[in-house]
Amino acid sequence: MKGLVIANWKMNASLEAVQVFAEKWQNLPAVTNVETVICPPGPYLQTVKAALALGLGAQDASAHVAGAYTGEVSAGMLRELGCQWVIVGHSERRAYHGESSSVVAAKAVAVMSAGLCPVVCVGETLAERDQGRHEEVVAEQLAASLAGVSPAPLVVAYEPVWAIGTGVTATAEQADGMHGVIRACLNRVYGSESSGIRVIYGGSVKPENAGELFARENIDGALVGGASLEAESFWKIAQAASAGSQ
Ligand code: PEP
Repeated sequence: MKGLVIANWKMNASLEAVQVFAEKWQNLPAVTNVETVICPPGPYLQTVKAALALGLGAQDASAHVAGAYTGEVSAGMLRELGCQWVIVGHSERRAYHGESSSVVAAKAVAVMSAGLCPVVCVGETLAERDQGRHEEVVAEQLAASLAGVSPAPLVVAYEPVWAIGTGVTATAEQADGMHGVIRACLNRVYGSESSGIRVIYGGSVKPENAGELFARENIDGALVGGASLEAESFWKIAQAASAGSQ
């Protein structure tokens, strides 16, 4: 399966930073054999689309199609702006906006109904891992977050909460092990149709650790936060994914 590397800029960057990123990116050799996607803050979607010939994604979408939902943005609107991907259920949305797995599933369904690919995020907290419950927690979260969701187009991102923005990366072995658990769950839910679902890893991915992660059989790519804000660092990660997909 072709590798997938997604940049999650979160609530960072500026119009000027988009131009700086684009200029630097254009001076770097093309990345082959990997799909590369940028998910900027919503106000910069069109600027990123105009400046960069990369995949375009959003960081969230409403579960609703239209109506009196002040502040929300529908998946259909994101499609009109050129998005092909939408992250749903990021741990920051689950923690700071109280999004339950059933809300995440409703968002994933809305994203698919608009013809876009949801990137459904799951991951355990440090306390859950310390208690040895991480596999059970992620399996439950995944099943609930995929209720009513079709197997295509679909990406699952394993993002251990303790590794996001902390500089602490799951070891390649920990990530690969959990990806194996996720793959088994997907197989139980979707059968042979699960083979096309990419399972990507997120949590302090950097140029220094990307190669080791992408060398693992169950890791199909990465969701990258902090290290995606700078063009060269994101490019190095995409290059590592390209080498891992050969
Ligand atoms: C993320 O926000 O999805 C993420 C993985 O962030 P970071 O790479 O900064 O840990």
